[in-house]
Amino acid sequence: MYMNNFEYLAPKTPGEAFEVVSRLGSKARILAGGTDLLVLMKDKIISPEYLIDINNIEEFKGIKYEPGKGMEIGATTKIAEIQYSEIVKEKYPALAHAAGELGSSQVRHMGTIGGNSCNASPSGETPTPLVAYGATVVVSSAAGEREMPLEAFIQGVRKIDLKEGEILTKFKLPEPSPKLVAKYAYMGARDANEIDCVNMAVALELEADKKTVKSVKLVMGSVFIKPLVSTAVPALLTGQKFSDELAAKAAEAAQGEAKPITDIRASEEYRSEIVGVLARRLLKEAFAAAQEV
Ligand SMILES: Cc1cc2nc3c(=O)[nH]c(=O)nc-3n(C[C@H](O)[C@H](O)[C@H](O)COP(=O)(O)OP(=O)(O)OC[C@H]3O[C@@H](n4cnc5c(N)ncnc54)[C@H](O)[C@@H]3O)c2cc1C
Repeated sequence: MYMNNFEYLAPKTPGEAFEVVSRLGSKARILAGGTDLLVLMKDKIISPEYLIDINNIEEFKGIKYEPGKGMEIGATTKIAEIQYSEIVKEKYPALAHAAGELGSSQVRHMGTIGGNSCNASPSGETPTPLVAYGATVVVSSAAGEREMPLEAFIQGVRKIDLKEGEILTKFKLPEPSPKLVAKYAYMGARDANEIDCVNMAVALELEADKKTVKSVKLVMGSVFIKPLVSTAVPALLTGQKFSDELAAKAAEAAQGEAKPITDIRASEEYRSEIVGVLARRLLKEAFAAAQEV
């Protein structure tokens, strides 16, 4: 389990980081928390000649919230910081919930929110609620910045829209409507330190009558090559008076959209069943909570 030799670089400013990332290209890997990267290096699945540690760059970390505008979360912000942030818990509770379910306390204090999306594992915990909240990512280089929805940045298993010389620098979350309720849930083989076999986030808002669905977004994780945004659920629920029967129909529709596989963590059939269970549960929970706001 020894890693191959590599050279360690730790730039202190964005400019230094962009220069070194661009100069070393595919010979280098960006190091954030290392909780995914070092596992791959120890197993010799990858053997970069250089590691570029971006943790010393102040501009790439931290949580900033501006009322009416929304939140920016730096890519190297630790998962634990998101889990415990009072403002994340207040404004984006489904994200704080998901952060608190990732791995163990040790992993959450090392791993970063940027690493979780850049690793692009279908079972990633935080991309699902981030997509439900409409998050975009900013990727930066010496040449400037690009911004895109997170669901476009994550292209498939371990595949992201990051060109040579670019670094994911921050996430932007729009200000949620005061009436929006978002919920997150996952299913795994056990409670502690497991990788999800299905995870899901629902964001729902009701009309003033507290019965009619104004908007709904349902995002599924671990049932496709990337976070899967349901189109069938909003089509069935928007403009309709919410009911248990409609929730059951919507859950069935989500099951129809999911494309789960069988792997070490669960069978395709089990994952499909769990999509239905979580969708029904989250839609009902979100509806009940939305009636109270
Ligand atoms: C025991 C254990 C349990 C775990 N449990 C879970 C779990 O329950 N749920 C879950 O989702 N994950 C889990 N993980 C995986 C991992 O902890 C997370 O994916 C974590 O968020 C990765 O972040 P990191 O900062 O450690 O990434 P790193 O390992 O540092 O990087 C991951 C990849 O992203 C690239 N990268 C990182 N940051 C950037 C950036 N800013 N710009 C461009 N590229 C970048 C790296 O080059 C590398 O390819 C677990 C890992 C372990 C070891």
